[in-house]
Amino acid sequence: RLNPSISGLLVAFTVSGGGLVAYSEAKSPDGLNIADSSEADNKRKRVVVLGTGWAGTSFVKNLKNASYDVQVISPRNYFTFTPLLPSVTCGTVEARSIVEPIRKIVKKKSVDIRYWEAECFKIDPENKQVYCRANQETDLNGKEEFVVPYDYLVIAVGARPNTFNTPGVEENCHFLKEVEDAQKIRSTVVDCFESACLPTLSDEERKRILQFVVVGGGPTGVEFAAELHDFVSEDLVKLYPRSKDLVKITLLEATDHILNMFDKRITAFAEEKFQRDGIDLKTGAMVVNVTDKEISTKEIKTGKISSMPYGMVVWSTGIGTHPVIRDFMRRIGQANRRALATDEWLRIEGCDNIYALGDCATINQRKVMEDILAIFKKADKDNSGTLTVKEFQEVLNDICERYPQLGLYLKNKRLHNIVDLLKDSKGDVAKESIELNIEEFKTILSEVDSQMKNLPATAQVAAQQGAYLANCFNRMEECEKNPEGPLRFRGEGRHRFRPFRYKHLGQFAPLGGEQTAAQLPGDWVSIGRSSQWLWYSVYASKLVSWRTRVSVISEWIMRFIFGRDSSGI
Ligand code: FAD
Repeated sequence: RLNPSISGLLVAFTVSGGGLVAYSEAKSPDGLNIADSSEADNKRKRVVVLGTGWAGTSFVKNLKNASYDVQVISPRNYFTFTPLLPSVTCGTVEARSIVEPIRKIVKKKSVDIRYWEAECFKIDPENKQVYCRANQETDLNGKEEFVVPYDYLVIAVGARPNTFNTPGVEENCHFLKEVEDAQKIRSTVVDCFESACLPTLSDEERKRILQFVVVGGGPTGVEFAAELHDFVSEDLVKLYPRSKDLVKITLLEATDHILNMFDKRITAFAEEKFQRDGIDLKTGAMVVNVTDKEISTKEIKTGKISSMPYGMVVWSTGIGTHPVIRDFMRRIGQANRRALATDEWLRIEGCDNIYALGDCATINQRKVMEDILAIFKKADKDNSGTLTVKEFQEVLNDICERYPQLGLYLKNKRLHNIVDLLKDSKGDVAKESIELNIEEFKTILSEVDSQMKNLPATAQVAAQQGAYLANCFNRMEECEKNPEGPLRFRGEGRHRFRPFRYKHLGQFAPLGGEQTAAQLPGDWVSIGRSSQWLWYSVYASKLVSWRTRVSVISEWIMRFIFGRDSSGI
């Protein structure tokens, strides 16, 4: 902490964008230093961005309007290309090749962006400031704490692994979320093979050490299991031939199938391939406890509990909430949610000038439903609670304009049929005598609501949200004068911006052995080597810089020629 005796001076300096930035002498009520801007900066709106992941980096990269004073805060001073993290666990690519320093990213920009290596531990919406703790210890008093005021806050802190409070998971399992996790997994895999070679071990002990368990049959768990299988079968068994018959990879999944969010054909192919590869796939098995040597599962159908010994467990069962977000949600009355609820403009409900994007946020479908009911009520001019077919068609058109995805869904899948049914049963469409009751409409909407899934927590969504929000900030002044969004349901006029619309570009599931499943827009499915080449091309093109692109491509080539490195470092 800063010495109060020199508080009259500008005391703490940190390097930013090549220059030095000072804290002012001002203190928060808690006695913490307030990160302040220079005189000139005070005239500019302060935008504080929390996080340097997919959402935060995409926001910063796309921000072009130089009229903001931007400060980025994150405990990680680099961006990680997460889709290649599973490849780092087995040495297919190096950790360094999938990260890019955030200072390098912001240096290229014409906008003045400063970065603080710190984590935010409290968000104070009333006083418009965030509380931060530096990553490194700066003196004997420990880590520096300071306060950063904002005019606009962009929360993009991502999520953390979800353990579902399963006993022993935190202490005994590996996670796969950060680069450090991937590096740790890589060295543990090699350590397991080395330990299993030691002359003092019994065969049973060797077998246990070479039992690798992956928990979670989502895309990450499946990709890691496939990578590990390739690493073992293509590289490690050549160096550790005696391990060949002892090594076993098990994939545990609580539901009936793996890759549930993919097309059924992909799920079936993946399950068959894993069976062929000798990966032991146990579905319908929920982990209930993990000790330092054993993992216990409960069979969902029978309730039977069984245990198996293991050498390494990788836990990949989805995402949970960061403590700072949980605390913030409690403060703003969203305590019962997993992620921050935003409207379609990514604004947090009930907060002024605070936006949330990426894995820590979710667009509130309930709000969308309320808005749609408002459209219904507006169309119901005589307040009878019923609409004629013609009025109802207008409602549908209105929904399509404001919520294209939902509108299309309603039109194609459900309401279209329902309108037809009503027409059929009551006849005479020309007289417009068919009416749709508001209660009926509510029931249909709630069905649709449960069918409409929230946006998936993917890099694709996070990056698109970051780019969308940056674009809004770029055109903030212009759109204040000439709003371009849809008509407001409440109040007069239009919204400043068009709402966020996610454009799904497809998804991949690498399955090992140079085979990848690709599900592209329009439910086009492709599985095999051709999709693997598509995967290589897409990810090479999406890498954040030429340095990382060249590194990754050369490491892929090196792997083809020399195999993976098995030193574990
Ligand atoms: P993140 O990218 O996780 O970034 C969060 C940022 O916030 C980090 O910089 C972090 O340091 C920072 N932060 C955390 N706490 C604080 C705090 N208190 N204060 C300030 N900053 C904080 N998605 C795909 O679309 N395709 C894939 O192939 C794919 N593969 C994946 C593979 C793996 C192994 C993993 C883990 C994820 C994968 N994903 C993939 C999902 C994707 O990575 C996430 O959806 C995406 O990272 C979410 O972006 P985000 O910006 O919300 O969070």
